[in-house]
Amino acid sequence: MTDSKSVAIIGAGIFGLSLAITLRDRGYEVSVFDRCQYDVKGYDPADNVQAASADHNKIFRASYGNEIHYQRLALESRKAWALEDEKRGFTRSDASDDRLFVNSGMLRIQPSDHLATLEKETLANMQRDGLRDTQFVMSEPADCERAEKLGWKDKMFTFPIPDSEKTYEAVLDSLAGFLRCSNACAHYQKVAADKGVRFNFGPQKGAVDSLIRVKSSLEPGKEKVKGLKTSDGLVHHANAVVVAAGSFSTQILPELSYHLESSAGSLATYKIDKNNTELWDKYSPERFPVMTWKSTPRDSSGEDTGSIYVLPRTPQGLVKIGFRGVKWTNFQPAPRDTPFTQDGQWSVPLPAEECSMLPAPALYAIKQFVSIFMPEFENTPFFSTKLCWYTDSLDNSFVIDHVPNYAEKSVFVCTGGSGHGAKFLPVLGEHAADIFENGDNSPSFMRPFWRWRSDAPRRNGLEEGPGGPRDISHKSNLNL
Ligand SMILES: Cc1cc2nc3c(=O)[nH]c(=O)nc-3n(C[C@H](O)[C@H](O)[C@H](O)COP(=O)(O)OP(=O)(O)OC[C@H]3O[C@@H](n4cnc5c(N)ncnc54)[C@H](O)[C@@H]3O)c2cc1C
Repeated sequence: MTDSKSVAIIGAGIFGLSLAITLRDRGYEVSVFDRCQYDVKGYDPADNVQAASADHNKIFRASYGNEIHYQRLALESRKAWALEDEKRGFTRSDASDDRLFVNSGMLRIQPSDHLATLEKETLANMQRDGLRDTQFVMSEPADCERAEKLGWKDKMFTFPIPDSEKTYEAVLDSLAGFLRCSNACAHYQKVAADKGVRFNFGPQKGAVDSLIRVKSSLEPGKEKVKGLKTSDGLVHHANAVVVAAGSFSTQILPELSYHLESSAGSLATYKIDKNNTELWDKYSPERFPVMTWKSTPRDSSGEDTGSIYVLPRTPQGLVKIGFRGVKWTNFQPAPRDTPFTQDGQWSVPLPAEECSMLPAPALYAIKQFVSIFMPEFENTPFFSTKLCWYTDSLDNSFVIDHVPNYAEKSVFVCTGGSGHGAKFLPVLGEHAADIFENGDNSPSFMRPFWRWRSDAPRRNGLEEGPGGPRDISHKSNLNL
């Protein structure tokens, strides 16, 4: 790029930061706006911040069932995380609390005593990429032997299936682990600022109230966006505006209403006291892998208790459990003229102060999980609980493209993380910037999956609409 072009990005979460860095590297004048005061308070999740990226840790995995493109993107990202940690002075074997990527491994516990279909697809795709030897299937002696040799065997935990003589089948994934998400955002925000990205943070100068729309002279009949207005009343001009506002993106750009839905995952933490050395050591990343328990059939009382995960303890002693078996929606009347609604409604995040209590089915599922897989905590009260908002897309792939409704490529969206975007922070921006600059001619292999897709059917739960069992705007579903 020769001429200096200005880009205003709304949102300093993972998607906004990653794109900001690459666009800056490619010569753009980049300003980022975020209503959170990340420059003063960091990305601390305890701060009642409503951003999926502001969280202690997120899972890193390259296991993606039959979606080999995400597997490959994750492997690309894994290299970038390792490189970034190396640049920051950590060797691969260094177990420092300050690492961004921690290769703790991940134990994928199956719903029963044999491999589920999704797992078989993952293993087949690992094989295709020559990585099958990084996966250790509990019931396969050759895998166990290899795990032993490579030092992974101690993380291949065995769990009995309740009311049965059998044990759960499981696969230990030695490629996986987690990222220290808040720390990673703070690190990359600084990287961006050092490169010359300008940040506007806080509820006045960082919060975006509206986009400035004008008639396009180059594409008659269409509007273009020529900037944005922040809560302090100032107008900021830019050649292009990027909406990267996570689960609030639809409220800034209602054209996204067909493509996205905000829904909440249920998070709970326990806190381990450092003096309790037995638990402190047992749940450390060196000894404890990420554990996921996938899509189990309903338990004997008919409840869905699956799709739960737990991460190793943080340096502060927090052990986080997440339940994603049911993603909660909050349907509210949508503003008039919203392009797509369901019965005049759309799902938007609850106010932050209403996000600290979990619906009863989530609590039930987490407690079941704890009783089977983490019995030491069975009678321990949670340290914290939180609803954390996903930006679900209609097919679980991200939405990264110019918005065709607007002229002169003046509006770009970079969102739709759908519960799996954090792991891509170091590389997402490269792919997104390729799409920003080249559209259909982008060299990124992710282009077909991330395009603006008004022709795609609404699936991934987005077809349900208001009033269903996931909708917690009906307090009866909350069942607190
Ligand atoms: C419960 C849960 C668990 C997850 N687990 C994983 C995982 O294990 N692994 C993984 O890879 N991914 C995971 N994800 C997904 C990942 O966290 C997201 O894909 C990613 O964080 C999304 O980043 P974002 O930048 O799109 O959105 P956000 O992090 O939400 O950032 C958007 C930003 O926009 C700002 N904003 C909003 N409105 C405005 C406005 N009007 N003006 C100014 N600023 C505004 C917000 O303050 C916020 O900082 C999970 C997500 C959730 C919800």
